[in-house]
Amino acid sequence: MARWPHYRLRTWLREHLPVPLAYLFPAGSKDCGRHEWFRNDENTDICWHCTVGEREHIPARIDPTSEAWQWLSESAKEGNPSSQKIVKRMIAEDAEARRIAAA
Ligand SMILES: [Zn+2]
Repeated sequence: MARWPHYRLRTWLREHLPVPLAYLFPAGSKDCGRHEWFRNDENTDICWHCTVGEREHIPARIDPTSEAWQWLSESAKEGNPSSQKIVKRMIAEDAEARRIAAA
């Protein structure tokens, strides 16, 4: 089974996702003003949209209105293995965030 990438997530996403999805992950160097977080590694979250957004990891709920989530879940349903991998991770994060909120 392929391991999660060690290098920056955005780069990996651009290389692995279908083209319309890859457009969601430009290496925007300016603050996007609407950070949406995704877990990059054990300790870090990064923003889907810009390279400015980076923070200590906090488990995040899935935002069903997020463009990134809508694209990814659709693409996963269509059978894209990279999207399926990301969606699986996001669902696990969502469950963790729910557990913490309930504690
Ligand atoms: Zn951002």
